Amino acid sequence: MRTKIIKVRARKAFTPTKIPGAAYVINQYIGCQHACLYCYAKFMCRWYKYGKWGSWVVVKENVAKIVKNQSVKEKVYMSSVSDPYQAVEKELKLTRRVLESMNKKTRLSILTKSNLILRDIDVFREFKDIEVGLTVNGFDGKLKKEIEPFSPSNERRIEALKALKENGIKTYAFISPIIPNLVDIGELIKETKDFVNFYWFEFLNLKASGKEFRKWLRENYAESYDLISDKTKAEKYVKEVVNAIKRAKIFVKGICVHYPKPMMMK
Ligand code: SF4
Repeated sequence: MRTKIIKVRARKAFTPTKIPGAAYVINQYIGCQHACLYCYAKFMCRWYKYGKWGSWVVVKENVAKIVKNQSVKEKVYMSSVSDPYQAVEKELKLTRRVLESMNKKTRLSILTKSNLILRDIDVFREFKDIEVGLTVNGFDGKLKKEIEPFSPSNERRIEALKALKENGIKTYAFISPIIPNLVDIGELIKETKDFVNFYWFEFLNLKASGKEFRKWLRENYAESYDLISDKTKAEKYVKEVVNAIKRAKIFVKGICVHYPKPMMMK
């Protein structure tokens, strides 16, 4: 798919956020070529009318310059409405330039689905307090093609975690989106636990995933849809998964639940 690139100039780099675990976010890109069908960030299309989510990327060209003169003491999350290592980053190197310019005392948490992140290990090493996460969920084959078409495979992401760990970078696995029958949490923990310092978990945000994803889930995985959209069943499912996570004896920073009620568990 051809990506529409829109270059803009930003006024500020850091935006306050309610995202668990951070006080600010930095989005040097808006929009994401990974085009995950369930992406909660597609609400950005309401303001950025460039077409379907995944087909365009807004590039804030001057963010590297801005962060030279702006810094924040609280924790910063990169990024909330884009993947900092989506394909366009390979050529533009905007994320890299932002990291190079950023105050190295910034407390930074980066999350991606791409092994392109390995390119920047040398810059990560300059930061005093940095953690790097890879989203893993085990989607592969036809399932991955349908709901996560353009991101690197889960194998590559796990290899990236391993390489980061071997290079002395603090790492975490972000297990998301948890969908009944489609995500095997026990298996994902087994595959990642030697390469991560801690975990975050997130249940599917069915409401924010949008009409198209809900229709896809209902038509292809009716049982999963039923389990996650019915209040009583969803409550039971969340409880079972949370108990399984607790039994796994791993370091968990947080478990984000969106339904039946939004909550953060530890
Ligand atoms: S990688 Fe993240 S931001 Fe990008 S489309 Fe997928 S869920 Fe959305």
